[in-house]
Amino acid sequence: PLLDGQVVDDHQITVCVRKRPLSRKELNRKEIDVISVPRKDMLMVHEPRNKVDLTKFLENHKFRFDYAFNDTCDNAMVYKYTAKPLVKTIFEGGMATCFAYGQTGSGKTHTMGGEFNGKVQDCKNGIYAMAAKDVFVTLNGPRYRSLNLVVSASFFEIYSGKVFDLLADKQKLRVLEDGKQQVQVVGLTEKVVDSVEEVLKLIQHGNAARTSGQTSANSNSSRSHAVFQIVLRPMGSSKIHGKFSFIDLAGNERGVDTSSADRQTRMEGAEINKSLLALKECIRALGKQSAHLPFRVSKLTQVLRDSFIGEKSKTCMIAMISPGLSSCEHTLNTLRYADRVK
Ligand code: ADP
Ligand code: MG
Repeated sequence: PLLDGQVVDDHQITVCVRKRPLSRKELNRKEIDVISVPRKDMLMVHEPRNKVDLTKFLENHKFRFDYAFNDTCDNAMVYKYTAKPLVKTIFEGGMATCFAYGQTGSGKTHTMGGEFNGKVQDCKNGIYAMAAKDVFVTLNGPRYRSLNLVVSASFFEIYSGKVFDLLADKQKLRVLEDGKQQVQVVGLTEKVVDSVEEVLKLIQHGNAARTSGQTSANSNSSRSHAVFQIVLRPMGSSKIHGKFSFIDLAGNERGVDTSSADRQTRMEGAEINKSLLALKECIRALGKQSAHLPFRVSKLTQVLRDSFIGEKSKTCMIAMISPGLSSCEHTLNTLRYADRVK
């Protein structure tokens, strides 16, 4: 295996890339795999062997990241190197975020929400659930037990600049910012949870709400950011001790889709583009005291504001890529974005 079990956990920003395998459909249409992972921190985009002229945008690019996961890595492996080291951050009073970035179909929801087996999404092996499990293990472990922390969870979606509660029939919610720049999603469902099983139910509920009434190919879920949050508070207090936010981002190809004939689609594309650009700036400035960060430019960065400020904030980004030649242009966009985050 490329990854040998050593996890670096003192990075404030970790940027990884995950290559998914070619799907059966792609194999059937003889899609060519142009991605290789020669080292645990390196990824290469190759010219395909059968000659097709791709020199326009393809010249055997090499990219370096903190970790590169090839198509044999499972969710547990990805979790171990990305979100898992951040669990202790929230117990130590910090904010943690984990982003899944990439084009539609590259594996964001598979990684965060869980694998699809047949018709249902098995959320147990997704990063949301694996992190929730470790939160309870840590909560009940010797080190932090005396803090008497209460765990709660919320799950919402940001679609076209508006916030919808995935745990309350997609109710539309308002975002307020007070004079001290504290941001609040008014009326957001926050369920107190005492066990992993309870969290799994919430994840399942939210996952189902996210995709209800949609066809997978052209679904709204590819144009929305899903945000799952685990919040720790001292018992009897409303003050946040630590918070872990997991974000299944909108497909980044939607952001460049500004030439669509449909006005709604164009507007949504522009909104996605704006939020992903603002996100990049906010992550790059993580923990620094810079007054001019573009938090307010998008709902996404606005609601995550408190996760970007503060010295104890940590973040990881998993850039998902499809291996196929036909995805190459989007893949390169994804890799360039991830490359600039750090
Ligand atoms: P996204 O959320 O980025 O649009 P999905 O997570 O829905 O993409 O993945 C698209 C399809 O590819 C799904 O059928 C999913 O099960 C499959 N898939 C994604 N990543 C992997 C992987 N690492 N291994 C196997 N199948 C995967
Ligand atoms: Mg998805």
